[in-house]
Amino acid sequence: MAFSTLLRPAMLAASRSPRMERTITRMRTTKKLVDRFVAGDSADQAVTAVQSLLASGRYVTIDYLGEDTTEIEQARTTVTHYLHMLSALARLEVEPDTESVRPLEVSLKLSALGQSLPQDGHAIALDHARQICVAAEAAGAWVTIDAEDHTTTDSTLAIVRELRADFPTLGTVLQAYLHRTEGDCRELSGHGSRIRLCKGAYKEPASVAYQDRAEVDESYLRCLRVLMLGDGYPMVATHDPALIQAAQDCVESTRRKPDEFEFQMLYGIRDAEQRRLVEDGNHLRVYVPYGDQWYGYFMRRLAERPANVAFFLRSLKPG
Ligand code: FAD
Repeated sequence: MAFSTLLRPAMLAASRSPRMERTITRMRTTKKLVDRFVAGDSADQAVTAVQSLLASGRYVTIDYLGEDTTEIEQARTTVTHYLHMLSALARLEVEPDTESVRPLEVSLKLSALGQSLPQDGHAIALDHARQICVAAEAAGAWVTIDAEDHTTTDSTLAIVRELRADFPTLGTVLQAYLHRTEGDCRELSGHGSRIRLCKGAYKEPASVAYQDRAEVDESYLRCLRVLMLGDGYPMVATHDPALIQAAQDCVESTRRKPDEFEFQMLYGIRDAEQRRLVEDGNHLRVYVPYGDQWYGYFMRRLAERPANVAFFLRSLKPG
């Protein structure tokens, strides 16, 4: 109880504090724990992780870490990193084992592409995302737009709608903790749409988001049913055993085939379960983050699990 009411919100608030970021990123002891969740600082390290995941039958979605960009130059640099990564992925020459599902994908945060810039942020992020979609098509990779805090949801979904006119396979993420999401699932569950459903990782107020874990889980189940009954391609992003089982039940009752949905998990979390799902004949995609701007991502991972926080706090003790 104390974790979800006190520690988790405190960790999520810290994830957006520049002062905490300066302190925590300077600590040498943090790095070992970061390495569990982040595939490396460089594109080469990320590609090595990708190759090993592909060799084990898993698919990937690669995220160049960074968010809340305040400088246009920084947003342009992020685009360059994605273009560089996509040309490296194209060289891998991955053979898809099915026509309809692409093993390679990149995930984008629009706030890293300029969405939060005070002037023309929306248009700049749209243009940057478009450049990445063009390169991804050439590389045979999918693109999914990540979900960030609720103040960005309308702008993000508007960008997704606009890009989907030219890139119909573009995916997006919906967060079950938001009150609005069941409605968004209904609207976006049509033919060809790819929706990643997750619980949601940001600190949100009660006016827009369920605060109680059980309420979030119930919302996830309602949204999952809407997506599974729809005509799109649901991407079930969770490590929660109860929700994974619920997804499998939904697949059975809606008679979806293995190529008509996928599971997704984060790099470094529940590796054995990832392998089990693949062995059982499912598509399983791993979200692989890389780059040196790992602070916000790392803090959200810590905030998700008391054991992670305890491990982190123990690592700070000298000796
Ligand atoms: P939980 O109830 O948090 O976890 C269930 C179990 O999974 C835990 O008991 C534990 O065994 C394991 N587990 C979960 N998290 C951790 C962890 N950090 N470390 C170790 N074990 C853990 N959120 C967004 O807001 N926007 C996004 O775009 C987004 N994209 C995502 C993409 C993928 C592929 C995934 C898997 C998640 C994404 N998330 C995103 C994060 C998501 O919203 C949740 O915060 C996160 O997945 C934890 O929720 P859970 O469903 O795994 O359930």
